[in-house]
Amino acid sequence: MGIRVEEITCKSALTGSGSHYRLNPYGGCEHACAYCYATYLARWRGQSGPWGSWVQVKTNIPRVLERELARKQGIEVFLSTACDVYQPVEEKYRLTRQCLSVLALAAQREDGPGVRVLTKSDRVLHDVDVLTAFPPDRLQVGFSITTHDDETAALIEPGASAPSRRLAAVTTLTGAGIRAGLFVSPVLPYITERDLPALLDRAEQAGCRFVGFDLLNYLDQHVGGTLREAYEHLGADALARLEEARHSARYEPAVRRLISRAMRSRTFDDMQ
Ligand code: SF4
Repeated sequence: MGIRVEEITCKSALTGSGSHYRLNPYGGCEHACAYCYATYLARWRGQSGPWGSWVQVKTNIPRVLERELARKQGIEVFLSTACDVYQPVEEKYRLTRQCLSVLALAAQREDGPGVRVLTKSDRVLHDVDVLTAFPPDRLQVGFSITTHDDETAALIEPGASAPSRRLAAVTTLTGAGIRAGLFVSPVLPYITERDLPALLDRAEQAGCRFVGFDLLNYLDQHVGGTLREAYEHLGADALARLEEARHSARYEPAVRRLISRAMRSRTFDDMQ
């Protein structure tokens, strides 16, 4: 699929309030996950075409960020909520790298920011030199993941790195002294329910420092159609479980029990 790339400028870099801010160098996301909650942004940003077919690039964001950080103390910055900061377009524009360089410099200050990066791409490994410039207690890198199985992930997260590559990236980052781990997000009916124990085994083998879970309801109508299409490839049992979970108040309690069982006796921090 061809990607439409639009260069834009931004007036502000950080969004949020108090001490919690988000930083999105890009609008839209080439990873095109079937459950993506950010698809509503297409209309808001005046974009047409399927989610994953366009990206807006905020070319001036590193400079805007630098100005804003000079005025803020003791904040937490999260990359990212409405895009993956290591989607393919980063290879050309390097905006995430530039923003992280600005943040790493600011993080040297006593009142500098703490930074959390969340991605589904092992392109983050291109920036190990920048990531190791942070004070270790000021940076965390998480990989969001729904299954350890590369084939299943290719159906639901077609543009992202395979889970095996994400897990290998965790090993590389922890080896470089960076606090890295996984966010099981979202916990998908049938897929994550089936794969969680094996996924956590792989997480331990990879040296994850933490595992978090996102129990937000991603199953509502705005992601329903795309997700359903992906589940059709997995067979009738998968589709039936998806439909059951979407209409049952018992899904979330069942997931909480599943997580609690699967996390028993694990060695990493549970960040549920
Ligand atoms: S990586 Fe995140 S922002 Fe990108 S499509 Fe997937 S869920 Fe959406």
